[in-house]
Amino acid sequence: MWQDRVLDYIDEHATEIVTDLAVLVRMPSVSGSDTEIEIQHVLSDRMITMALDLDTWQIPLDETLAEPDFPGVEVDRSEAWGVVGRVAGRGDGPSLMLNAHVDVVPPGDMISWEGADPFSGRVTADTVEGRGACDMKAGLVASLWAVRGLTELKVPLRGDLVLATVVGEEDGGLGTYALLRRGWRADACVIPEPTSLDIAPATAGALTFRITVPGAATHASRRLSGISAIEKFIPIFAALRHLEKQRNAIKHPLAARWELPIPIEIGKISAGDWASSVPDTLHADGRIGVAIGEDISTARRALEEAVGAACQDDGWLRAHPATVKWWGGQFASGITELDSPIISTVQRCHAEVTGSPQTMWATPYGSDLRLMQGIGAVPTIHYGPGDAERAHSPRESVSINELLTATRALALIAIDHCGLT
Ligand SMILES: [Zn+2]
Repeated sequence: MWQDRVLDYIDEHATEIVTDLAVLVRMPSVSGSDTEIEIQHVLSDRMITMALDLDTWQIPLDETLAEPDFPGVEVDRSEAWGVVGRVAGRGDGPSLMLNAHVDVVPPGDMISWEGADPFSGRVTADTVEGRGACDMKAGLVASLWAVRGLTELKVPLRGDLVLATVVGEEDGGLGTYALLRRGWRADACVIPEPTSLDIAPATAGALTFRITVPGAATHASRRLSGISAIEKFIPIFAALRHLEKQRNAIKHPLAARWELPIPIEIGKISAGDWASSVPDTLHADGRIGVAIGEDISTARRALEEAVGAACQDDGWLRAHPATVKWWGGQFASGITELDSPIISTVQRCHAEVTGSPQTMWATPYGSDLRLMQGIGAVPTIHYGPGDAERAHSPRESVSINELLTATRALALIAIDHCGLT
């Protein structure tokens, strides 16, 4: 049986699969870095050796970023590449896309890595470590090897199997937006983001914003004649915490497992330029979660109104209101119809490989699902190795066991979904 043969192939290549993940983790493909460009060429070369029909193209950045529905970027890029490899189906079966992002977030505070190299790709008895190991190079490697197993064994799939590696997921979804713009579609898509091998057919959204709070500078020794922008931000921050509580009071059933499914957080603040001055402008950059089924414009309005109301309660801010600007990643929420066949396919194949069922939930983070599903109308789910709690955190790592399980399951999902001739 083809299924058994491909599972044997994956078992025989387990060590290579783990090594491959370590090699890719050692490439620091931070969003917007030169390595983000380089890794796409490495993967494109790899797909040539796998004899896939290859579409490698330079993304026309100016045109793409100018599109009215472009989801936003947060880092500058001079160059970006799209890579899609296709195993042509031998019949008229449904097509499947595996879509994995190659970019990773920066390592963050080096102290929290406790002396470890963030891009070590160190392999322990049961994990591979390093930035991106979990989010989501393990999912990328699982996809690559699932496809490789199927092509090397010449498994006669009826529908097309498409492997897309994308840039810019972390800062808005440039890569997936670009491949949709180029015309790539499939009858279903699996994004192997870290779900601890659960199935996530929905994603909350996240909108990046900047609040600018005006103040009035003066020498700190005469601070009463100035206005501290930091002090004026405090009631605004309190208003955001209050809004967050209100917005999370009712949860979408798929988000019930999260204490806070749609958080609002300020990730970065800057104000003032001198220790002995009253700071006159504060910039607070943050993100607001978008509920499943909620419009982007509704979420934006809620935040703008909360900031506006806080300003009304303060004499200075009433006359000099804080402003809200939407910039960077604008992730809508998204959900795939729960009766889409890809959901039962993934559930069945996962159970076949592990012998146990999986739970279903929505991710609290934004992802490319909303582009595939929203713009592309492609039923899309997340299913991948790694605990998302390890993503973006110091000492990121992924379980080797989950990596190999995902590789096996993805191969079976492709066979099941695309069919055999
Ligand atoms: Zn990710």
